[in-house]
Amino acid sequence: MYPKTGRAHGIRLQTRCRPRELRACTLSMGGYAGFDRAGRRLVAMTNYPRFKGAAFYVWIGVLLVMLAVGADAFIARSLQGLGITALNNMTPWGLWISLYIFFIGLSAGAFLISTLTYVFGARQFEKMGRYAVLTAAICMVVALSFILPDLGRMLDRWYYMLIYRQYLSFMQIELNFYFAYILILVLEIFFLTRNDLAIRAQLSSGVTKIFYSLVSLRSRADEVLRSRDAKIVKILGAIGIPVAVGVHGGTGAIFAIVKAKPAWFSPLMPIVFLASALASGGALALALYVITSRLRGSEIDRELVRSASKLLAFLLVLDWFFVFWEILVPGYAASPEEVFVIDTIMYGPFSWVFWTFEIALGLVLPVVLLVASKFRKPWVSTLACLFIVAGIIGVRLNIVVPAFFLPPYSILTLGEKAGIYFPSNVEWLSSLFFISGALLLYSIGVKLLPMESLQAEGQLGGAFGDPQLKSSFQMSTSRRNWIKAFVASLVAGAGAFFLPKTAAHREGQAAHGFAGKRWAMLIDLARCTGCQSCVVACKTENNVALGTFRRWVPDVEVGTFPNTRRLFLPLLCNHCDSPPCVPVCPVDATWRRDDGIVVVDWDRCIGCRYCMVACPYAARDFDWNGTQMVDKCTFCAHRLDQGLLPACVEQCPAEAMIFGDLNDANSEISRIVRTREVQVLKPELGTKPRVFYLGLPSSATTEVAMPQPSLEPMTLVGLNIPWMAIPGIFVRKPEQAESRVILGNKFLSDPRLYKQVVVSGEKVEMISGE
Ligand code: SF4
Ligand code: SF4
Repeated sequence: MYPKTGRAHGIRLQTRCRPRELRACTLSMGGYAGFDRAGRRLVAMTNYPRFKGAAFYVWIGVLLVMLAVGADAFIARSLQGLGITALNNMTPWGLWISLYIFFIGLSAGAFLISTLTYVFGARQFEKMGRYAVLTAAICMVVALSFILPDLGRMLDRWYYMLIYRQYLSFMQIELNFYFAYILILVLEIFFLTRNDLAIRAQLSSGVTKIFYSLVSLRSRADEVLRSRDAKIVKILGAIGIPVAVGVHGGTGAIFAIVKAKPAWFSPLMPIVFLASALASGGALALALYVITSRLRGSEIDRELVRSASKLLAFLLVLDWFFVFWEILVPGYAASPEEVFVIDTIMYGPFSWVFWTFEIALGLVLPVVLLVASKFRKPWVSTLACLFIVAGIIGVRLNIVVPAFFLPPYSILTLGEKAGIYFPSNVEWLSSLFFISGALLLYSIGVKLLPMESLQAEGQLGGAFGDPQLKSSFQMSTSRRNWIKAFVASLVAGAGAFFLPKTAAHREGQAAHGFAGKRWAMLIDLARCTGCQSCVVACKTENNVALGTFRRWVPDVEVGTFPNTRRLFLPLLCNHCDSPPCVPVCPVDATWRRDDGIVVVDWDRCIGCRYCMVACPYAARDFDWNGTQMVDKCTFCAHRLDQGLLPACVEQCPAEAMIFGDLNDANSEISRIVRTREVQVLKPELGTKPRVFYLGLPSSATTEVAMPQPSLEPMTLVGLNIPWMAIPGIFVRKPEQAESRVILGNKFLSDPRLYKQVVVSGEKVEMISGE
């Protein structure tokens, strides 16, 4: 043994091996270089740490089986539509949307953790850096894949989001961030690995050589290239920080702007999304680093694991800090809607997710493991990381699903518009398809890509080892580079808003209606007998699909005992003057005509159901077994265009509805709205509905809109704090009989309700009809 130094492919190498043993000789720094066959020349070698034995192929085999099982469910979904899922008109988003935001969070979090190394120069995390960036890229691909099966028209209109762009929709704004982010990830992976890929290309032969030559773009490895790439990676990382924040914070904003869902409508929501993204993304990257290193037989950097575990513990606490305030503030204010949702999360149908995933797996176990091992043992940290990731799955599910369990009107109880959601087998198995696909991609990625860099070992010179290169690395942290990176990020963000505008498609009378008119409907509740003729007329006139309704007439009770009153309350789209359903549509498939009618373009709708989620009146139904698009009342616009009245108005035997033009001062509806006391539903939301009611007790407009809290204050350790209603801590839920209000023909024509009541034997109170 004797020390020897030399250069190979531009890389300065040092070894202590005997020249004659040399092809397989490993260097003191881990086996990245050796001598050539003749034993004369020192060369870089391609024997990076890699999977050994059959374990890798067994693992790939398992993933392929999982993929095949999941593919069956995914194909079934593709062919049969969303009708085979458990999604329904009350819960139009479920498991897939939860997993979409979960993977977006993993991606953004992993990327942001990688910037600690590449932007902020935290050397202790460097070995994890490439794992984090690869994880971020794959998670992003999977996240976007989860949108696909959730689109009603996934097969024929998946690309509409790309060509019909409605820039007010947060989905579209996010799409711009996603594109920019994916581009940054691809470039970063390339520049991170290019030098090592080029070394592999130079030292391999045959197909392998061609592959590495292609992916390295025929680059030639040397220190200059490595140094330049390190600077580019730094700039990309700096640009990527605001973009990644936009990716996940903005995904939070998709939910945070929905006023119709009080549990989401919070400025803190994007911040909560970011905090949990950092915790879960970092945890996944660390777990994958440890597991992959172990499987490939490379040494695990214990100092890295210890530092990263401490960081993750801090991020976990930060995440829970925000969650705590998200629960405490509405609970303290006793906001009925939010208390309802929090109560549902803690004690409702999804309480198992909260207690098992969020609390036990996501908080208690990781904290216990990390504290007990004092951050010392890599396998304990890895286990804690996997628990954190599982816990965040629970957080995502509980963000998306229970918010839908809040009935749109207090007069309706849980499950009125359809059954309570629990993901179907098709949803679980299709998710398995995407998740096993992600694991497959990751496994292939770590097999083919150099996951450890030469300079990461700190023994071959390079950005950290070579004083000259180190100084150039430090130069790249100069103020000038920061300014460059910041300006580049602004340009990248702004550029997204100058992409081609939405193609013109709103043409003709049907799209614009009657300029100068302002159609409105007035419903006199004293006249309505609940005969359902209007519902039948609407379904017949508009060929409304089975199980889908454009209007419905529940039998409701308003007031407080003993001053209660029974009413038949026709409900339909209010054709709001400020419709929250319109700006959210990502493809501009729904809009307000000049005469105020809100319409849906069925040639364009992709079935994403964002408009359903945004409508506070539950006025849009989805055709789950037919068109895979939303349906809603149009005031029979096609009849108006011909000078006819809406079918429901014409068919009402009690003449309970008056329809007309509010801009015409002489019209009957104008006169009544001007001279009598009329009510609208949920006036406090500012949507300015144009369906007016006569005879709805004014207190009932709010009562109908605002669910009453199902919780009562209770004494806590002898202190009676009636003004506090923090569910589960200070309050208890009174026993309530489960009852549903279901009307005759709605019940009979709704197969889901029929199955719920007759097949599943749920307890339902029949108020009228059957
Ligand atoms: Fe849109 Fe109609 Fe709902 Fe108003 S009531 S938000 S116009 S769907
Ligand atoms: Fe999505 Fe509704 Fe627009 Fe259709 S109309 S694309 S379901 S937001």
